[in-house]
Amino acid sequence: MTAPLTFAALGLAPALTDAAAARGYTDPTPVQAAAIPAVLRGRDVRAAARTGSGKTAAFVLPLLQRLAATPRTTTRHATVLVLVPTRELAAQVADVVRDLAPVLAQPPKVACLFGGVSINPQMMGLRGGADVVVATPGRLLDLVDHNALSLAQVAALVLDEADRLLDAGFADELGRVLALLPPERQNLLFSATFPPAVLALADSLLHDPVHIDAPDEPEAVPAIQQRAIEVDAARRTQLLAHLVRDGGWNRVLVFVATQYASEHVAEKLRRQDIRAAAFNGDLSQGARTRLLADFKAGHGQVVVATDIASRGLHIDDLPVVVNFDLPRSAADHVHRIGRTGRAGAEGLAISFVSAGTEAHFRLIEKRQGFRVPREQVAGFEPTEVATEAQATGGVKGKRKSKKDKLREAASRGE
Ligand code: AMP
Repeated sequence: MTAPLTFAALGLAPALTDAAAARGYTDPTPVQAAAIPAVLRGRDVRAAARTGSGKTAAFVLPLLQRLAATPRTTTRHATVLVLVPTRELAAQVADVVRDLAPVLAQPPKVACLFGGVSINPQMMGLRGGADVVVATPGRLLDLVDHNALSLAQVAALVLDEADRLLDAGFADELGRVLALLPPERQNLLFSATFPPAVLALADSLLHDPVHIDAPDEPEAVPAIQQRAIEVDAARRTQLLAHLVRDGGWNRVLVFVATQYASEHVAEKLRRQDIRAAAFNGDLSQGARTRLLADFKAGHGQVVVATDIASRGLHIDDLPVVVNFDLPRSAADHVHRIGRTGRAGAEGLAISFVSAGTEAHFRLIEKRQGFRVPREQVAGFEPTEVATEAQATGGVKGKRKSKKDKLREAASRGE
């Protein structure tokens, strides 16, 4: 019988092994077992690993170890740059770094940079430099433009939720950031999914990378039960209210396609005495942080969110996720339903399917290689019939309006 793999056996120094143990990480997860030795050797890595697989520690632990061997910066140069697509993820990753960093003999300085909050404290915080910078691209560029930070000596670049950062929405900003980095550097790309459209770009960033496709640990495979309920589009809010009450659900994350819908559906639920809040890029950062903290603490009952919440957020013990509006792509579906059923807990993902979206849901099913039996709920049986165009497919998920796209861009950190 082989002994279980340990962090020490992966080459991690005792201080970091102890720090990991203190956080309750006794055994490395599969992505950690594969990534830590490669990162320690200075290799580039492309890792397909979902949120919840331990991917944050998979790059933070070995990068801290490499930093320990590097003189601390006293100038405005960053040494490790972690790019993330959302403010919440920036805060979450920076927390992990801040938690582990103090165990090094010379603790590195950590800066977390994202938009939606005043830039001045972040500029002050960068005085004297920062060894590890965790940032959303827009605010990072603002700070570089203000001469608060230089990326010319970045030794390691991490793209967390890389598929999002590599897709069209971030193309300009990412291009600008990459142009500021030295060509000689270590590149680590982590993402739950690498759709074909971003794979070529991902690979063009990497030098002789180690490819990791982390299998889920059997006990960590989320037990997510999927249900698809047929309902007329106009009756979805009522059905949602009915399900929340009937199921006694006390914590539900509901995904909608637009910021407007997130406000509107939350408002309609509140009118039915359900504690509901909208979560979208239009909210101030303070409001977003508070709302999430409240929800995690069990105060809120229903959060109606745009896809800004579908990436990377940990909400322990989230039993139900509802696709009020279907996600635009199969990859988004994976991210959304991955919010539930975390850490081995059981989760339920419900998709509302109407005549107009049936063909789109079939497309998602096909891409995912699963089929979810359609059900109907008594009192909410659908009456709408698909038009011919809808029935024959080719129907995309609801497109975001230009205004929504602009708002989302603004909320990403600019
Ligand atoms: P992540 O995939 O980085 O979002 O991490 C998901 C969760 O797993 C976090 O709550 C971590 O604290 C936890 N975690 C990370 N590594 C380990 C480990 N080796 N053992 C147990 N839990 C871990």
